[in-house]
Amino acid sequence: MTEVEKRQDRSPVPTGWTYAPAPESTDVVKLRERYGLYIGGEWLTAKEHFTTISPRDESPLAEVGQASVADVESAVAAAREAFESWSTLAGSERAKYMFRIARILAERSREFAVLESLNGGKPIKESRDVDLPLAAAHFFYYAGWADKLEYAFPNRRPRPLGVAGQIIPWNFPLLMLSWKIAPALAAGNTVVLKPAETTPLTALLFCDVLRQAELPAGVVNIVTGDGRTGAALVDSGVDKIAFTGSTEVGKAIQRHIAGTGKRLTLELGGKAANIVFDDCAIDQTIEGIVNGIYFNQGHVCCAGSRLLVQESIYEPVVDKLKRRMATLRVGDPLDKNTDVGAINSKVQLERIEELVEAGKNEGAELFQTPCQLPEKGYWFAPTVFTNVAQSYRIAQEEIFGPVLSVLTFRTPEEAVEKANNTPYGLSAGVWTEKGSRILWMAERLRAGVIWANTFNRFDPASPFGGYKESGFGREGGLHGLEPYLAFDTETFGG
Ligand code: NAD
Repeated sequence: MTEVEKRQDRSPVPTGWTYAPAPESTDVVKLRERYGLYIGGEWLTAKEHFTTISPRDESPLAEVGQASVADVESAVAAAREAFESWSTLAGSERAKYMFRIARILAERSREFAVLESLNGGKPIKESRDVDLPLAAAHFFYYAGWADKLEYAFPNRRPRPLGVAGQIIPWNFPLLMLSWKIAPALAAGNTVVLKPAETTPLTALLFCDVLRQAELPAGVVNIVTGDGRTGAALVDSGVDKIAFTGSTEVGKAIQRHIAGTGKRLTLELGGKAANIVFDDCAIDQTIEGIVNGIYFNQGHVCCAGSRLLVQESIYEPVVDKLKRRMATLRVGDPLDKNTDVGAINSKVQLERIEELVEAGKNEGAELFQTPCQLPEKGYWFAPTVFTNVAQSYRIAQEEIFGPVLSVLTFRTPEEAVEKANNTPYGLSAGVWTEKGSRILWMAERLRAGVIWANTFNRFDPASPFGGYKESGFGREGGLHGLEPYLAFDTETFGG
């Protein structure tokens, strides 16, 4: 034990430190009272509206349109009309618009980051340093492919599919929008996108960026609404559905469009194993575990929500983890010191509470960050469960909140077996100093993304997607372009 650790042992990390509040100003965001639907480059009025709120204090932010079946059909018709000229525009011209969008997002990043935290509840330091830079980077990256499609797929003649219907969740609203829209436009498709009902505001602000970039009318259309609007989009005349969300809804969509000829990609849930071997760099690993599960309140499909620790270092890992958790600052998403923000919605909070209750009833041992939660809004303290059996619900079901379940293993074989023992297969993490062990594990883990000695790292050039009930199709990189293209060789049976 080092001197510092000895001292920390005598006096546990002081949790009573008071930080001066460091709130980000919301002045930069100008909200309208009521938003319409962005169809064919115009704002159209919806017949019905709903209120979108801030989860940090439940205050109403704006009225948002609930797009009907007819609205969705108009959006698809606008996208169909725009497709003719957009798909025949030179790739280098399409790229110009996309570079413009990327630059405007970067220029207006503070405005977008504040709005993202306000509407979604994530800490401002995450929207500012992760969501916004990555969203702009996606447009920059795919703009670069727009005029190189023929070189990207040698000996195959790529052509766009037509109109893409895209449905996204609430955990990374603007980033998921970028993951969807950027490759679709680069490939020459036009788009109708539906944001999640609890976080529509950055997608609506994005329409302003489209206008500023002078993107031709109808190339991107945004229709807001709940699952009914999503279902109408699935049912409409689009050529492809790209869906990110829960496995349950993903399966329903797949059943619904089977046999229609519509293309489909599904990015669904996860229950990632973060696997810690006894030769890991332990302090770095603790940071990776914390980042893996408490980043974005655990509202992350690839969150490292199952910690598998080699038995020989179980105690120091759990001790250090609890000590680190005690330093996490939970509170106002707009405070620059906040590590863990608000839970996105009441419904999501209730889901987390229900699963945590199940964990307690099944016999797991609970530890929570000692913190005072604000009275208004939706909050859940960072939580870790020890003494977890593989059969417990908290070890099998996606909680999608700041809740970690710790399990142990003795051998690498056992680690692989336990890691693969869920219906999901989205991501995994491996912590060890041995490169050969990382490769050995990566070959055996059934997960689309495997991080080694790090976690939750994203790059537009790197494909992302799942196995099993985590879905199919990839987003990011060259792989992410393919689902938005048809190939002439396919038509001729080649
Ligand atoms: P959800 O499936 O309830 O909603 C996702 C989107 O689908 C929303 O826009 C919603 O309005 C829409 N929707 C709901 N019912 C629909 C229907 N019948 N037809 C068409 N659209 C419909 O999921 P959620 O609770 O909002 O999001 C959380 C889930 O998303 C988690 O399971 C998480 O793992 C997953 N997720 C996956 C990824 C990934 O890349 N794999 C990324 C983020 C989130």
